[in-house]
Amino acid sequence: MRGLRDKRVVVTAAAAGIGRVTAEAFAAAGARVFVCDIDDAALADFAAANPTIGTTRADVAEPGEVARLFDEALAFLGGLDVLVNNAGIKGPTGPVETLDPAEFRRCLAVNVEGMFLCTRRAVPALREAGGGVIVNLASTAGLFGFPNRTPYAASKWAVIGMTRTWAMELGPEGIRVNAVCPGPVAGPRIERVIEADAAVTGRPVAEVRARYLRTNSLRTFVDARDVAELILFLCSDHARRIHGQAIAVDGHTETLRTG
Ligand code: NAD
Repeated sequence: MRGLRDKRVVVTAAAAGIGRVTAEAFAAAGARVFVCDIDDAALADFAAANPTIGTTRADVAEPGEVARLFDEALAFLGGLDVLVNNAGIKGPTGPVETLDPAEFRRCLAVNVEGMFLCTRRAVPALREAGGGVIVNLASTAGLFGFPNRTPYAASKWAVIGMTRTWAMELGPEGIRVNAVCPGPVAGPRIERVIEADAAVTGRPVAEVRARYLRTNSLRTFVDARDVAELILFLCSDHARRIHGQAIAVDGHTETLRTG
């Protein structure tokens, strides 16, 4: 894709999952990349496999750690052109009256406040570069109601609200901001979600998985690669007029009701 070579890119929570595939795809496209994660073992594994990518341990929900992340990233990269706000946790599953307020707050702290903390540190550097791109990982849970997932749905609707707000604030300075809304990504995370759903609803895991597949018209889960390719496209020159959007890569979600 045009316009990615030598771009200076930060991807949060990139030791595994969508973030890892995205960081590696940016590096393969000739970009310079710096990542953070909170999982030391996964980060060590990532660093061993990707010696040219800078890494640090940082929790995006902790303002002091985010400040250090950006100090280290800017020193490593020499500036910033792209921020991929990828960090997001699934939060607890269950009917609203059963949910633990501390778990609600942690989900919002990582998924919403973490994105705010990273963006407020990134913007001065993007401005100094003369413009740039921010991509926020939302979800189809930011486009539909999602029974039994109150904190996650709240967090992802907030991500889309922040995306549209930052698009208005930063667009005039040449900083493009978009959100990506993946459907369920095949892999261990969706398996944990399905198991949690089965535990809450008392249905067999295989039945819950079949119900999740029926939520979208293509009857599919998504690959991390599908999401990474959309993120790279949004950061490339091909997307230079795409701004303030929440774009789904989900096989066309019809509903998130699986009950
Ligand atoms: P994941 O669950 O595989 O986790 C990726 C990494 O995030 C892990 O290495 C973990 O250690 C790290 N992490 C967790 N909390 C962190 C924190 N506070 N600070 C820094 N790192 C942290 O993630 P994923 O499934 O690849 O999801 C990435 C993004 O995509 C998230 O925002 C998620 O909500 C969104 N998303 C995922 C799916 C899906 O099905 N996987 C679907 C839609 C949207």
